Amino acid sequence: MEIQICGLKKNYGEKKALKGVNMTLSEGIYGLLGPNGAGKSTLMNILTGNLSQTEGEILFDGTDVRALGADFRKQLGYMPQQQTYYPSFTVEQFLYYIGSLRGMKRKQVKERIAWALELLSLSDVRKKPLRALSGGMRQRILLAQAILADPDILILDEPTAGLDPKQRIAVRNLIAEIALHKIVLISTHVVSDVEFVAKELILLSGGEVLCQASPHTLTEKLNGKIWELNVPEDEISGLSQWGTVCAIAKGETGAIVRFLAERKPPYDGMAVRPTLEDVYLYHFGDTEGL
Ligand code: ADP
Ligand code: MG
Repeated sequence: MEIQICGLKKNYGEKKALKGVNMTLSEGIYGLLGPNGAGKSTLMNILTGNLSQTEGEILFDGTDVRALGADFRKQLGYMPQQQTYYPSFTVEQFLYYIGSLRGMKRKQVKERIAWALELLSLSDVRKKPLRALSGGMRQRILLAQAILADPDILILDEPTAGLDPKQRIAVRNLIAEIALHKIVLISTHVVSDVEFVAKELILLSGGEVLCQASPHTLTEKLNGKIWELNVPEDEISGLSQWGTVCAIAKGETGAIVRFLAERKPPYDGMAVRPTLEDVYLYHFGDTEGL
């Protein structure tokens, strides 16, 4: 199984949301990492056929997915970023509805719903209307509908948004568990969501892929560029002339600053092991929050 994205462009009027994206996805989990506005949702909407591209193509095992049409879409599970839902449906009704849209047999739907609800700790609320549920529960129901038909390809747009840390870990573990023999693309701007589960990370910024590589390869590239420095507190603001501050902690004397710089700034300290958080800052440090 392979998805190839070739020269994918998307313009919204004058706005160039995707500027020629290329990537190849095979079985495994991919983290699509990038700040708000990078083009993650646009890419996923084109992949799932909800939006058409301006230029370029997406091939599934060599055939354009537009030619495959429903044959491609029925292999997809998609969790959209926006929570569009049916407020008066109960959890169970909603999932039966999704199952029927996907053409699943009633007996199969019943089994799969029980499975998904159990997996996502939603069994207790299955009779509740969606409107009565918390954001975190609705988020998990969206995930439940994406995995319901056991699709070969899972496209998850910020699946952990709005979840507390414990739910985040549960969802992350669950995705890792069901990902075997599937192509899974997860968009996020939370590095820890994909740090340990992703085979590769794809860094997207301003509609362009900056790189696609394993987490290990990405952190290796920053070897010798991440420093832990002892800095007097009143000199922290002057650090920006040497590079980027990753984190500040209080030390016994002054501050301990995790710092990103090509060369060691003139402070007491040493090079430390880079993490994916550092990689994120390195690539997106100046774009985040815009
Ligand atoms: P992300 O999911 O990474 O936050 P999006 O794909 O939602 O990014 O958006 C990429 C860019 O395209 C952003 O600058 C966004 O404002 C713009 N954009 C997204 N959807 C539309 C639309 N329907 N009309 C105009 N601009 C859009
Ligand atoms: Mg988005």
